[in-house]
Amino acid sequence: MAGTVATIGAIVTGLEIGQRVAVYPIAACAECFYCSLGKHNLCVDEHGLGHGDDGGFAEYVAIPERIVRLGGVVDIGEMPFDLAVMMEPTSGPPTIELDDLYRALEILKPKITIPMHYKLPGCNYPIELDAKDFVRPYANDQVVWVEEPEVELTPETLPSEPQIMVLQATTAG
Ligand SMILES: [Zn+2]
Repeated sequence: MAGTVATIGAIVTGLEIGQRVAVYPIAACAECFYCSLGKHNLCVDEHGLGHGDDGGFAEYVAIPERIVRLGGVVDIGEMPFDLAVMMEPTSGPPTIELDDLYRALEILKPKITIPMHYKLPGCNYPIELDAKDFVRPYANDQVVWVEEPEVELTPETLPSEPQIMVLQATTAG
């Protein structure tokens, strides 16, 4: 998620009103076993933007103290917000219905959308949809199936037209 700092708490330092920032979405505890391994997504006491707290679809978002303490509010300088990448849950409920997600993508037109939270072999969470369900309405030349779990992007390498990029999954749990 990215946005402009509208106001800051009394004890917050290092941020200024009007600053353009990207925000790490996971409010991890920073103390449990999984946090010690850097696996915030497995934290035994996590919540975050879009799951428990308002996320990027809200007009204003109160960033949890934990995210600020984790260094999760990052200055993006003059980078235009429309160059940002959108990473979205594509599994349907309990996250977001696909029709609502498609409508949001039509409005926001991110250069790249990376689907996440979809069905994988061995996944124990009750997710019904996989990445192929998500990409079905898109033309073949709009979808890139990446053979790696990571991709490096810069403003210079972003495509001119919106593109769906499916990364290689590494784990399911
Ligand atoms: Zn933790």
